[in-house]
Amino acid sequence: MSFADQLYETAVRLAKYAQNSASALEEERLQIEMRKREVEAQLDAANLAHKRLANFLPIRGSDFQCPRCWIDHGTASNLQMTAKNKSSTENFRCGMCHFEFSLRQGQVGGTDCQKMNQRLPNDREFMRTRPKKTG
Ligand SMILES: [Zn+2]
Repeated sequence: MSFADQLYETAVRLAKYAQNSASALEEERLQIEMRKREVEAQLDAANLAHKRLANFLPIRGSDFQCPRCWIDHGTASNLQMTAKNKSSTENFRCGMCHFEFSLRQGQVGGTDCQKMNQRLPNDREFMRTRPKKTG
């Protein structure tokens, strides 16, 4: 085999190796683009939630409103009282998403609306008050 033939064979091997790398890299690129789209969608949702917060009304008419439906979907949903636990706590359930909220009464001063704003559930409460499975 001539030097030229040996060099050509080496070039063929290198080209095949590069081709194999290209398909693996293409697969990796597709996965990164899919993940990028997921992150962009989550970012859009996060920014939208912040905008929706500016328009959230805890009370419409005489009905308390579900903050979850409003922040997540921009829909106004009434809360129904489900139970009065202790003298100071009342449970409400959303008619749409079935999320439950445990709200405390009796903060001094302010309207009911202001009381609701002071009592937004924190993450720990969201963990405790998952929606009940129905059906
Ligand atoms: Zn809801």
